[in-house]
Amino acid sequence: MNTFKALQISKDGDQQLTESVQLSRDDLMPGDVLVTVEYSTINYKDGLAITGKGPVVRKWPMIPGIDFAGTVIESDHAEFSKGDAVVLNGWGVGEAHYGAYAEEARVKGDWLIKKPEGMTAKQCMAVGTAGYTAMLSVLALERYGITPEQGPVLVTGASGGVGSVAVSILAKLGYEVIASTGRKEHADFLRQLGASEVIDRAELSEKGRPMGKERWRAAVDSIGSYTLANVIAQTQYGGAVTSCGLAQGADLPLTVMPFILRGVSLLGIDSVMAAKEVREQAWARVQQDLDLEKLELLSETVGFDQIIEKATDIVDGKIKGRVIVDIAK
Ligand code: NDP
Repeated sequence: MNTFKALQISKDGDQQLTESVQLSRDDLMPGDVLVTVEYSTINYKDGLAITGKGPVVRKWPMIPGIDFAGTVIESDHAEFSKGDAVVLNGWGVGEAHYGAYAEEARVKGDWLIKKPEGMTAKQCMAVGTAGYTAMLSVLALERYGITPEQGPVLVTGASGGVGSVAVSILAKLGYEVIASTGRKEHADFLRQLGASEVIDRAELSEKGRPMGKERWRAAVDSIGSYTLANVIAQTQYGGAVTSCGLAQGADLPLTVMPFILRGVSLLGIDSVMAAKEVREQAWARVQQDLDLEKLELLSETVGFDQIIEKATDIVDGKIKGRVIVDIAK
């Protein structure tokens, strides 16, 4: 039987081992659609899984990789047939079900969506789960009623995956974007993506006052901890802040004051279990509202052999924008 390459993480006592292995289709987990994985990405969660720095993996051994774009090889699912181009984000893939860092993946058809027609598989993975989550965050702000005329929108972790895509989308939609970054050297990059102001993340990363000067109408946060607390404390009356990540920490040390005295709202964002209609809407809006030239600017492509190195970099906060993995390379 033909075999294909996969990146496998396994545990031996407290030691975690990551190695390239050869698998056959019989080794894959159950599912009704078999897919050739063409592109995947490096997400923060993949970094946590591969480095073992966060409790992401729930079954051992595991093939990590939480998202992919590829082509259907075989399908017993009514919505998909051989040759269909598909995209997968989340659903526990790469955590509890064999994931994207393999040339083939067998998954539930219910987890897949059809690839947006105006984008290539590679562009979809330049967006990846981080970019799709950025779009979910923007959609949440829109649903809340935030409009460009109301005032600036802050994006934290702006040089990262969620942040860089959020800056690009918000700027294209006409929002005034304030980008917060710890890497001053990326200020020009962030302006190219559409930020009108770049601030030092150190302004937000230490314990602050319960309420501060009102600086932005809304914010897209992927950092958590003191940063998110300070972001909320400096949000204008009636504004809203989305929370999707924990790059600084999972804690949220704040008071209720911004909520009860300024009517600020905190909007939670989850990409993993989001309903199919929500995903389809987000991807349709990515296609409409993300400038593909900016997507090119904010992404780099690596081969299968560089996954471990880039996974380590993302957890160390060293990645700029998005990293696409060309699985066959
Ligand atoms: P990246 O590593 O690409 O970006 C995170 C950025 O955060 C970094 O580039 C850096 O930006 C900033 N940062 C890193 N460490 C710190 C720190 N200690 N304090 C303050 N800022 C810091 O990751 P992603 O953008 O892919 O993901 C960001 C977060 O969002 C992660 O926690 C991830 O798990 C979460 N996430 C959640 C999803 C969901 O469904 N809820 C989906 C996707 C992601 P800079 O250098 O510009 O300051």
